[in-house]
Amino acid sequence: MSTEITEQVLYRKKVEEQSRIIEEQKKHLEKVLEDKDEFFSVISHDFKTPLNVIITAIQAMNNICGNELPEKAKKYVGMIKMNTFRQLRLVNNLLDITRVDTGNIKINKKNINIVFLTKAIVESVQTYAAQKNIDLMFICPFENKIIGIDDEKYERILLNLLSNAIKFSPESRSIVVKLISKKNKVNIEVKDYGIGIPEDKKAIIFEKFGQVDSSLSRRAEGSGIGLSLVKRFVVAMGGCISVKSKMRKGSTFIVQLPDETVTDEGNDNEVADLLDNRLIQSTKVEFSDIYF
Ligand code: ADP
Repeated sequence: MSTEITEQVLYRKKVEEQSRIIEEQKKHLEKVLEDKDEFFSVISHDFKTPLNVIITAIQAMNNICGNELPEKAKKYVGMIKMNTFRQLRLVNNLLDITRVDTGNIKINKKNINIVFLTKAIVESVQTYAAQKNIDLMFICPFENKIIGIDDEKYERILLNLLSNAIKFSPESRSIVVKLISKKNKVNIEVKDYGIGIPEDKKAIIFEKFGQVDSSLSRRAEGSGIGLSLVKRFVVAMGGCISVKSKMRKGSTFIVQLPDETVTDEGNDNEVADLLDNRLIQSTKVEFSDIYF
């Protein structure tokens, strides 16, 4: 009898000890993950500063003596600029994904005419589409639709979908951006007639680093962060995203946002401001992956 009790006590002690060890390991792991996020955040900021300085210096050089540069030098300056934007895109994406994952994403909703904004974003991309002889259309059956959105996030979402649509379309195809008003929702559809996405990869592409072809040669062209960030932004704005696709026929990405205005607007920057500098810069950054 006493041996049985001793065994029970020993067993209980062993279970308690194991629980304690598991709890300690869990805490350690949480700390490591927290440190990793902080490290990423700090390092990304430090990466960004010199990149912005390089971009400003190149712009200044172009303004001051752009015309005097020999053709060969212009080509090299162009390469430096394009790759700096590319690096900035990666750093921005890494920083944002860390922010979202640590719950530090700030959604700054304002009441905005989504028709006007979408049209402006589509127009900012026309030159990139034209270089591939792609006919980029914007279709919307209504002229105004005011909803509460974070314009900066919306711009990143649409630019990302559009850069993918161009990147994964052969020359001379069409891309259609459509706005549709549905009961309590607004749909933004980006339809291409490109290479398409295999059925078994449709979920993976919205995951961090998820690519259809993740071979090293393909990775050089992109990091697979774009769509995971797009999904996180859409969800953070109270919406959802889905994709319909057929191999070699094309893909349609559908972003669905709530058709509602906000009473407490984040800040009152005019949307027109966006059309001046930020959109031009964001388009260059977002399209830096595409070389023609
Ligand atoms: P990446 O930077 O690699 O383009 P994304 O997260 O934006 O990363 O996209 C993930 C993957 O989804 C891409 O690598 C590509 O395989 C696939 N993909 C995204 N958009 C399209 C599209 N419009 N047509 C075909 N494949 C696409």
